Amino acid sequence: MSSFTQGLEILLQQLRSLDRENRPRVDQSNLDRIERLKLALAEHLRSETTIGTSSRLRQAFSLRQGYGGQDVAAAPEDVPNPEARARYSEAAARSSVTVEHELDPTVDLLPTGELVPTNNKDDQERRLAALRETVLVCTKCAHLAEFRHSVVFGVGSPNAELMFVGEAPGADEDLRGEPFVGKAGELLTRIIETMGFARSEVYIANVLKCRPDMPKGGSGNRPPTPEEMQTCLPYLRAQIEIIQPKVMVALGGVAMKGLFGTSEPMKSLRGRWHSFGDIPVMATFHPSYLLRNQALSEKRKVWEDMLQVLERLQAPITERQRNFFLSKS
Ligand code: URA
Repeated sequence: MSSFTQGLEILLQQLRSLDRENRPRVDQSNLDRIERLKLALAEHLRSETTIGTSSRLRQAFSLRQGYGGQDVAAAPEDVPNPEARARYSEAAARSSVTVEHELDPTVDLLPTGELVPTNNKDDQERRLAALRETVLVCTKCAHLAEFRHSVVFGVGSPNAELMFVGEAPGADEDLRGEPFVGKAGELLTRIIETMGFARSEVYIANVLKCRPDMPKGGSGNRPPTPEEMQTCLPYLRAQIEIIQPKVMVALGGVAMKGLFGTSEPMKSLRGRWHSFGDIPVMATFHPSYLLRNQALSEKRKVWEDMLQVLERLQAPITERQRNFFLSKS
């Protein structure tokens, strides 16, 4: 309650008690007027908070819509492995999805004028569940809808303070319908737990909700095309808008391209704070990178990034956490 509404409340109580004690009579219509003023003010303040946050996020979204899907994902020549490059080029050429620059109205479940209390867990749960229903039947990328076993929406707490954003589901995630459950997922889970959280306490989602398709019988993964990312991004934005995490972690270059449209290499992006609207985003290496590159120095970098995240969340940091990698060198 603001100090002004509190003041109105005190005034009301005093006037009511005067009235009860039957000293000077207080006009009931004036009491009603003050009561209405107090309610209107409280409602106005609440809507300012909700809509303010919402429109700040919208601003962040529309800034990125300026990229027009042109350089949101890697160009084929950025893909180092020749076989993967060929598959990527083929998928990019085949991709016939429409590039959308507006938030999808079916996804935007918070009309700007609607008064939705922020940080109301039930409400966040309800809205996330409704969004999930929409996303699970999405067929905007016909080629991905045909290829997938499941849509991998996201997992975790609807009011998580910490949200991790990855690239796209791989084969394991596609089969299980849950992000980060393969080898990279096991490593991410270990990182989350070493930070002192349970997987269920944070939220984990990907830029792309479907596994990028591969030739029949083909193994491995390919990065999402710019069009696929552009088509799927409104879902991630809606998830962020509903969850309103205090801090996000972008796992790897594709997550950074999705969130910020940047094509800068991870070496220069990681370890630094970026802002998605009001939300601070720590860029760090993708767990798959750590699996490919086992050097302790790279793991330590990711851990240092996570310590920054804990500090930003004002979470307690133990000596053991602080010295986690020092003891291993
Ligand atoms: N890599 C990702 O980026 N996301 C997953 O869900 C799994 C692997």
